[in-house]
Amino acid sequence: MNLLEGDTVVVTGGASGIGRQICLTAAHNGADVVVADVRRDPRIAEEPTDVVVTELTGQDAVHVECDVRKPDDLRRAAETADRFGGVDVFVNNAGIFRAEQYVEVDEADYDEMMDTHAKGAFFGGQAAAEHMDEGVVVNVSSIAALHGNENHPVYDGAKAAVSNFTKSMADALGPEIRVNAVLPGVIETAMTTEDVPTIGAEREERYEGEIPAERFGSPEDVAEAVVFLASDKADYITGAELVVDGGLSAV
Ligand code: NDP
Repeated sequence: MNLLEGDTVVVTGGASGIGRQICLTAAHNGADVVVADVRRDPRIAEEPTDVVVTELTGQDAVHVECDVRKPDDLRRAAETADRFGGVDVFVNNAGIFRAEQYVEVDEADYDEMMDTHAKGAFFGGQAAAEHMDEGVVVNVSSIAALHGNENHPVYDGAKAAVSNFTKSMADALGPEIRVNAVLPGVIETAMTTEDVPTIGAEREERYEGEIPAERFGSPEDVAEAVVFLASDKADYITGAELVVDGGLSAV
């Protein structure tokens, strides 16, 4: 079933990882796609997302350069959807992840992390709202929003802000625009294999064993949840957080 038939979906951070898969899964469900990212070439894989989307699904797709820390870039990304009939779904997905020792984090590190996640999602939702009368915003938060951790305190705080903004945005923009968050667990992308290696690292087996599903997540796992929340199937769901972590945060 094509859950997003005729829709146009804007995905920030859509060049790589989870965002790339959200673009593909949305297109497989009948959507045209705007890939909004600071880069066009993916971190892993060869061809740009916009090229692959059209090759594999026949849907229209375009890349637009967008730094989510800049509200004007987010507006340009939303505007770009006009060439496919206007934005229906806006996914605030772009993100970065670094190891951080609390006492060593400097102001520039702090600002980069907070601006990418919290400011990016806040103004991404605004840009979406300015460009659609009705539709859906999905924010990609994290189970990091649910806990503190000495190894990534700014990331955790930034994701907690994204989760809470989701509720305020749902209240402010409803009923015409629904706003929800997904909270992924450990998902196999360059973020978890290269930036802060968990998958492929020494602790992999021990960590994986703690997950009730007994496996790490895939970008597909998250993308399916995003497409569900973006679709009419989720018509009565807004201001909600959908955890996609194989049960990790439940135990
Ligand atoms: P990736 O690093 O694979 O992809 C992120 C993409 O976002 C990259 O193309 C990156 O480009 C881009 N990006 C980074 N900063 C900006 C910016 N300022 N403006 C626009 N684009 C930007 O990461 P994932 O796919 O793993 O992560 C996607 C989202 O999912 C993030 O919000 C992340 O926090 C969240 N998440 C991921 C989890 C995981 O285990 N992977 C778990 C929970 C949440 P560049 O590389 O050039 O910076």
